[in-house]
Amino acid sequence: MQPVSAAERPLAIIAALEEEACGLVAEMAIEPGHRLLTIGGRDVHVGRLWGRSCVLTLAGIGKVAAATTATGLIHSFDVEAMVFTGVAGAAATHVRVGDVVIADMLLQHDFDASPLFPRFEVPLTGLSRFPSDRRLTAKLAAAAKNYVSEFEARVREAAEETPSVHRGLVASGDRFVNGVEAIAALRRDLPDALAVEMEGAAVAQVCHDYDVPFAVLRTISDAADDSAHVDFPIFLRDVASHYSYEIIKRFISFFPPEADDVG
Ligand code: SAH
Repeated sequence: MQPVSAAERPLAIIAALEEEACGLVAEMAIEPGHRLLTIGGRDVHVGRLWGRSCVLTLAGIGKVAAATTATGLIHSFDVEAMVFTGVAGAAATHVRVGDVVIADMLLQHDFDASPLFPRFEVPLTGLSRFPSDRRLTAKLAAAAKNYVSEFEARVREAAEETPSVHRGLVASGDRFVNGVEAIAALRRDLPDALAVEMEGAAVAQVCHDYDVPFAVLRTISDAADDSAHVDFPIFLRDVASHYSYEIIKRFISFFPPEADDVG
């Protein structure tokens, strides 16, 4: 374990649901110095993950829950950077269940103050697409590629499909997208969206306001179609925590963010 330094600002890790982060929570709880606090109704784990100072919490579902959680962590811990990890529905047709999407940009697909402002634009920011931090995102993508390449070797024998890592636009909104018409409409409006979820763009907006570098990782749990509500809980139960654990573990080994780019 590295010496605890008062000057070391923690990395914040947020997930929406317990299933997305239970492996990370268990790992953190066994490191010396682990503490559990309650902030804004959230259980916040404070301590270390693989030697790195971290704060880890579950935001719950939706943009407001994600925004209040992100804001609380920034105020309470002066976090150095923030990473959101969880699952999402596929928006693009080439993105499959089991793939990983790393957000280069995030947009709130249910934000519409038109005709006063262009559709999707967050008024007074001039932005509809909030860019993630370039360095953190490169590190997260490298961590995901590293994990998937090992995963690939293990599953090749079982003849399962090999997962891909994609980078691009992630669309967030307060809606579980669960139907062919709903996902077709989203594709029409946002042809370059790779994944759809319910928190990422809210974290992006908060981090933009506070000038905190952030990155978002999403494993695809469902195709946002008529069977999304069936596929989503199965994936969540069996796979989501494993992806978060393995990718964040690799990501932390690539810290600190000022180190040279790795991917
Ligand atoms: N009560 C349900 C609801 C989960 S909402 C449950 O717990 O079983 C879905 C969560 O996964 C959100 O946090 C969202 O970010 C993500 N997600 C996965 N698939 C999604 C989809 N098709 N549309 C929107 N969000 C999705």
